[in-house]
Amino acid sequence: MRIDVLTIFPDLVEQFAAASLLGKARRSGLLDVRVHDLRSVATDPHRSVDDTPFGGGAGMVLMAEPIFATVEAVEPPRPLFALGPGGRRFDQALARELASSGGFSLLCGRYEGIDHRVHSELVDGELSIGDYVLAGGEVAAMVILEAVGRLVPGVMGNATSAEDESFSDGLLEYPQYTRPATLRGLSVPEVLLSGDHGRIARWRRAQSLVRTASRRPDLWAARGGLLAGEERLLAEFGLTLEGPPARSADDVG
Ligand code: SAH
Repeated sequence: MRIDVLTIFPDLVEQFAAASLLGKARRSGLLDVRVHDLRSVATDPHRSVDDTPFGGGAGMVLMAEPIFATVEAVEPPRPLFALGPGGRRFDQALARELASSGGFSLLCGRYEGIDHRVHSELVDGELSIGDYVLAGGEVAAMVILEAVGRLVPGVMGNATSAEDESFSDGLLEYPQYTRPATLRGLSVPEVLLSGDHGRIARWRRAQSLVRTASRRPDLWAARGGLLAGEERLLAEFGLTLEGPPARSADDVG
């Protein structure tokens, strides 16, 4: 899978993509991440990529020409998404969608944003990583690179770990524990030490349900609340959806 990133801070993205999981995936040929410097096509002595906004106002705007020229020169894989707070909200469902595509590209804005002709004539869409304003699209590109990259088949060591993690089926993940079994007087839930894999799976599912209901009413409503048989599942572990939210789910083991 090929992912191209267009930016005026290529080192930032390049360094990120060279480290850890992504770096390994690149070296093994699973991921082809290409970072392009928008400045390298600038022709004037100062290698300008920004200018003042028509109509006045504060700040600078990324010029359209270096972006058009870069796209023509490198022909990045489509769809080409501009990053910006006004775009479609990036989430796990979209990460999965992109991970099963052949590739895509990300255009990082800076300053006050990008000349609108790039939005209207060149890119295929806009992606946002949340309702806040960053100083540039690079961090957003890195978020998307990592969230998508880890889902590309073969990238994560344990292929099943993507299946039951948060958001995979509209639920948050169950709580995780590791050794030691008792730490500072705090014991891990007994069921996890039982060796009864069926019961462990049911406990984890029950925990996911309670955590999602109490912490993320939006996800809970989207899945339609409790489904058939799930009330009995909760009862098996003495759990209900009533009572004090948030902590109750973690305290019951
Ligand atoms: N003036 C613009 C914000 C520009 S921020 C506005 O009010 O909408 C500069 C750049 O940071 C943007 O061009 C975009 O590429 C990036 N950026 C800022 N917030 C972002 C977000 N929430 N998601 C993705 N990219 C973002």
